[in-house]
Amino acid sequence: MKLPIYMDNHATTAVDPRVLEAMLPYFTETFGNAASRNHVFGWRAEEAVAIARQQVADLIGASPREIVFTSGATESDNVAIKGVAEASEGRGDHIVSCATEHKAVLDCCKRLEKRGYRVSYLPVQPDGLVPPEALRRALTGKTVLVSIMYANNEIGTVQPISEIGRITREHKVPFHVDAAQAVGKIPVDIDSDSIDLMSFTAHKICGPKGIGALYVRRRGSRVRLSAQMDGGGHERGLRSGTLNVPGIVGFGKACALCADEMEEESPRLGSLRDRLMNGIMQALDGVSLNGGLDHRLPNNLNLSFTGVDGESLLLGLDDIAVSSGSACTTDTPEPSHVLRALGIKPELAHASLRFGLGRFSTAEEVDYAVAKIVDVVNRLRKLASV
Ligand SMILES: *Cc1c(COP(=O)(O)O)cnc(C)c1O
Repeated sequence: MKLPIYMDNHATTAVDPRVLEAMLPYFTETFGNAASRNHVFGWRAEEAVAIARQQVADLIGASPREIVFTSGATESDNVAIKGVAEASEGRGDHIVSCATEHKAVLDCCKRLEKRGYRVSYLPVQPDGLVPPEALRRALTGKTVLVSIMYANNEIGTVQPISEIGRITREHKVPFHVDAAQAVGKIPVDIDSDSIDLMSFTAHKICGPKGIGALYVRRRGSRVRLSAQMDGGGHERGLRSGTLNVPGIVGFGKACALCADEMEEESPRLGSLRDRLMNGIMQALDGVSLNGGLDHRLPNNLNLSFTGVDGESLLLGLDDIAVSSGSACTTDTPEPSHVLRALGIKPELAHASLRFGLGRFSTAEEVDYAVAKIVDVVNRLRKLASV
């Protein structure tokens, strides 16, 4: 076992060696511009992009022409939310989202609020889920978009997306889903979930950073969307700019691997996660699970520890990479907006850890982490009591 141990796979993942191998030729021999129509360099790049587009589409049950390549889920969220808002001008000015969304979604909504849009941020239950009926009540005749994430990046909770999709379809309101944490981990199907727009990204599924996709429905209820990046008209005019061919090839390969391996990998991660949770909870009192266990990604665990200082806890875990329940976007750490939305007190939120297991996590690493965490928490509690 090698130290330090990486348990922060919700932040990013290591590139799978099979993904890297698929990408390498596209930096050197096959370096063409996929938009070059006059020679074989361009044709080869275009061919590779077409194969990858099919692989990406297959993982989510889409057609390849519904995939728009972007730089990642942040950009996809921006194009979906601002793009629909702009294309709906004059027809409505209301958006429904949720309090526990990723900042990429929340900050797009905030920007639109400054431009005069109204946004309803649905609260979540203590288990982290949005009750579909709350969504139904929030919809108005002026609602132009619903944006609810598939799975939460901090507490791993999986929203009732197909029920929410049914309601949005009934009301003929476009439905956007940030699925960066769900795609490749649990089965996602844009048709059975009635999704119109969906953001996802390669670096959360053992692919490279800087490449992602926006799914845009083109069958049945077609969504209207205005581009946020103008230029050469790439990606059906929705996202101009020379395609990142090696990144796209890697993204395609990463999706194909998930499609092949998810059925085995998902229960493996689930049992590693349970081993981590049970190991910690059996050895320590005063540990609480954040978010419900029933509708949850198999690789996620988020725990709060009473009676310890969050910063000392992280410092003690010097050879385990995890995230804390505080957002350090500024100098003073703030309790995460997700934990706050669950009603968790700031002090307890600071003493929270997010574990994200991944393809390269092992039982040996989990056992090491359990022993280390139990030791550090016991030590900190003893110090605090003297
Ligand atoms: C990681 C993540 C993003 C951002 O994705 P990038 O590809 O890094 O821009 C957005 N939403 C969620 C839920 C994420 O987990």
